[in-house]
Amino acid sequence: MLYIVATPIGNLKDISLRALEVLKSADLVACEDTRHSKILLTHYGIKRPTVSYYQHNRVTKGEYILGLLKQGKDVALVSDAGMPGILDPGYHLVNLAIKNNIELTVIPGPAAFVNALVLSGKPAHEFFFAGFLPSKKISRRNKLQELSALGCTVVFYESCHRILAALEDVQEVCGDRQVAVARELTKKFEEVRRGPAEEVLLYFKKEKPRGEFVVVL
Ligand code: SAM
Repeated sequence: MLYIVATPIGNLKDISLRALEVLKSADLVACEDTRHSKILLTHYGIKRPTVSYYQHNRVTKGEYILGLLKQGKDVALVSDAGMPGILDPGYHLVNLAIKNNIELTVIPGPAAFVNALVLSGKPAHEFFFAGFLPSKKISRRNKLQELSALGCTVVFYESCHRILAALEDVQEVCGDRQVAVARELTKKFEEVRRGPAEEVLLYFKKEKPRGEFVVVL
């Protein structure tokens, strides 16, 4: 069986009892980055064989993992943080398993966009998750134009290197729309800034942006 196991997005305590049980008994743990996931596994005294499964080896390693699943082995899929399949190659393995009639289930847990959405205070009954916006300015502005016309809450991920550029574009395209910018969720320096795009942009221009970001419009 393929277990898609959500792991912490910063705080190692954010892991379910069921996730630990599955990781302890899996024949193999497929990790986006084995060194990264070993920190978590070691923390919980889990000593199971691991294999790397990431964007560039997903075809060969996917076939290898599929072979084990077909033999009836249990494989746990984890990503570097949060829910596998949300913006990582986990999606391909899930698809491969479905196409090959492999039984699969999700062991639920954190996903950064859920925390940010709820902390934003914006309506969450209808929202659009846009993943990462394009890195090129023109495409990003076009995308923001599309997103701002949706008429519902919009959530996207951003890195510390691009957050200022992205917020400048939000201000330009979306005017004085109220935004919430969440960083370092579940970690020691978790922070959410809420307000007009211009105000939040000014704040992050003063305070050098550090860590991982989620933007809610
Ligand atoms: N699978 C992950 C999930 O379930 O949220 C997302 C993986 S995606 C490759 C990584 C991005 O998620 C980061 O660049 C950042 O935008 C966001 N992210 C992950 N952890 C975060 C955290 N603790 N605080 C804020 N954003 C986070």
